[in-house]
Amino acid sequence: MFHLQNSILTEIHSDFLEARNIKLFIKRDDLIHAEVSGNKWRKLKYNIELCRSKKKAGVLTFGGAFSNHLVATAAACQLAGLKSIGIVRGDELSNDSNETLQRCTKYGMHLVFISREDYSNRNDKTFQEELMVKYPEFQLVPEGGANYYGMIGCQEIMQEVSNSVDHIFVAQGTTTTSCGIAMSLLEKQILHVVPVLKNFDSKQEMTELWKWSGFDTEVIEDWLKNVEVLDKYHFGGYGKYTDELLDFINNFYKENSVKLDPVYTGKAMFALMKEILKERFNNTSMLFVHTGGVQGTTGIENRSGRTLY
Ligand SMILES: *Cc1c(COP(=O)(O)O)cnc(C)c1O
Repeated sequence: MFHLQNSILTEIHSDFLEARNIKLFIKRDDLIHAEVSGNKWRKLKYNIELCRSKKKAGVLTFGGAFSNHLVATAAACQLAGLKSIGIVRGDELSNDSNETLQRCTKYGMHLVFISREDYSNRNDKTFQEELMVKYPEFQLVPEGGANYYGMIGCQEIMQEVSNSVDHIFVAQGTTTTSCGIAMSLLEKQILHVVPVLKNFDSKQEMTELWKWSGFDTEVIEDWLKNVEVLDKYHFGGYGKYTDELLDFINNFYKENSVKLDPVYTGKAMFALMKEILKERFNNTSMLFVHTGGVQGTTGIENRSGRTLY
């Protein structure tokens, strides 16, 4: 239903890579859907299945004013013939406040705007229970699709890739995608995670998500052995960027015809190229997981006064 088979592998060729005998592949989750960020589909797949098997009317979830996850949930629910409710951070907002919220509305999502203070309780048990009393017909999915079912959906990424890759790179927000990938690695494979938030403790966040999903400390420690954190590529924090990053994204598109976004994938690919310069990946095969996100770049173009691609 979600066209996950659109996610092909693209090989990148350049003198830079060939000089080091590096093979670089991109897993094109950005091709899953024209309008909705790639990895969000994977995180929703089993949440939607759960919703159906429990015979719920739809999904209730959470997000900020520019949340890719909200749009993805709205679109996925519409496709699945389910209803959707989005609890949005900021009671000054309305259905028309920006393109993201307009798109959610277009996909039939019912938006409920709450104060920042109330929103900060989104993961609290009592707050969620209150919502479930108010909307008993709905299946609750946490912000960013960050739950067990979200991770299980992302586990399928590596199942679609040949076993011969040694190093995998992926951008991190809630860590759900990276947790799913880390769960499906072979002994020899290393997952390099690039958090896009500043002062983000990747391994701690991953551990919490796994623990919360019921996994044992021992299993978690085993998964974390194959994870390397690259936390110097956030460019100032979430949604922040520099001219250097925008130039990099534009050049990458010119040379490879693959669009990256300035919030997630641009930073992760920048990290990959910089780390290659340290000559640490010579004679290996690398995989970049393109999580999508390119659709959400218009806000950035407006703010920076620059055009991308
Ligand atoms: C949401 C998003 C991410 C973050 O994924 P997590 O599973 O939250 O870590 C990465 N890339 C893109 C393009 C996204 O939209």
